[in-house]
Amino acid sequence: MAEILRAVKGMNDIFPASVPRKASETLPTSNLWQWFEQTARSVLQRYGYQNLMTPIVEPTALFVRGIGEVTDIVEKEMYSFEDSMNGDRLTLRPEFTAGIVRAIIEHNALYNGPLRLWSTGPLFRHERPQKGRYRQFHQLDVEALGFTGPDVDAEQILLTRTLLRELGLKEGEHVRLEINSLGQLAERAAHRAALVTYFEANADLLDEDSQRRLKTNPLRILDSKNPSMQAMVDAAPRLMDFLGAETLAHFDAVRAVLDAVGLEYRINTRLVRGLDYYNLTVFEWITDQLGSQGTVCGGGRYDGLIEQLGGKPAPAVGWGLGIERLLLLLEAVGVVPPEQAPDVYAVVGGDEGRVSAMVAAEALRAAGLSVLQHAQGPEGLPSLKAQFKKANASGARFALVFAGEELARGMVGLKPLRGGESAQVERPLNDVASWVAELRNA
Ligand code: ATP
Ligand code: MG
Repeated sequence: MAEILRAVKGMNDIFPASVPRKASETLPTSNLWQWFEQTARSVLQRYGYQNLMTPIVEPTALFVRGIGEVTDIVEKEMYSFEDSMNGDRLTLRPEFTAGIVRAIIEHNALYNGPLRLWSTGPLFRHERPQKGRYRQFHQLDVEALGFTGPDVDAEQILLTRTLLRELGLKEGEHVRLEINSLGQLAERAAHRAALVTYFEANADLLDEDSQRRLKTNPLRILDSKNPSMQAMVDAAPRLMDFLGAETLAHFDAVRAVLDAVGLEYRINTRLVRGLDYYNLTVFEWITDQLGSQGTVCGGGRYDGLIEQLGGKPAPAVGWGLGIERLLLLLEAVGVVPPEQAPDVYAVVGGDEGRVSAMVAAEALRAAGLSVLQHAQGPEGLPSLKAQFKKANASGARFALVFAGEELARGMVGLKPLRGGESAQVERPLNDVASWVAELRNA
């Protein structure tokens, strides 16, 4: 037999629950994924957000300029390559925001006013694969462009709360909200200067990574998870103490909305987010259920990015939710998606049954019902009894039987499969409309 090829490390196949998977598989099923997408679409629609689709491949320079040269993503996580046809430097997108901002600028899309947009799809980061961390992963990404806030900042946080709630997660129990304000550029510069002075005075306590960051991106030292540095990092100057009146008023206005709707949050002054472009409001939804992969959803304001990427200055705010991580959390806390069984399973006897069943199934599907028809395998059509077993296993509410002398008389057998033993009845095949209502969800 030919050699078996395997998926690229850190990139996954997402199967339906009913299909066998290798024993080591820990990924969520496509059933859960589809239900998540449906729920998300419904919530986004109710908040007035519209879909934008951008390419998976973008010029490498977009991410270097947009995300920042000294970030984990640009330094070591990007899948970059040369287009063998023309030598262009290209990158598989590691996040959504830069591509969305590029598209907005390229199409002058804010010409008629601000926009509320969402995207979803695969992202790529060359990280060490582990549960909740992959090399191809997926996000739901939501952006509002052209609004100065604070109302739209609060709106986006409320949107995330609605989504998490409708997926069955409980605030306080399964997820909790943390917020912070990163202030404006000048405030951050003053804080940064104080930090550098402080870290320089404590240089003997810095590990190798932090020594390097002190020269490139001292703020990232605050992200360090090295326990021997924790006490020193905890005592470092706090950005909060450098924020001016306008920034604080913006932050207070966001908090006032959260308070008014009774959404509990913790102000985490250490919350800085991994990317350089954030200012003012930042937030994360955290869980304790997924080990060190605790951030399910995070985002904030990035008022400088559009100008930084060459567009006419415009404010923006957005967030990304890691879909695999969220689905793992749903599984961990026992959320199950609504059942997706067919309404009807068509049991077929021989060639005449096959054609009649297909004709009737088309009429039923046109009427909005889902119909699974037993189709022939390498051994031909199995016995009616064997097909009935499949019908029961499928979870369908009804079996329709296209076989035997009933079929010869132009009739189909209708048998309820749930709620105890009930007799099979007959219905006319040439008049599906007269009995289709019986098959609808009671
Ligand atoms: P982390 O600190 O966990 O690396 P991050 O700050 O790099 O997260 P963001 O760039 O803010 O993450 O992306 C938003 C969300 O996308 C994260 O909160 C997480 O849920 C998800 N995410 C990020 N990287 C991965 C990955 N490699 N695999 C799976 N999900 C991811
Ligand atoms: Mg990361």
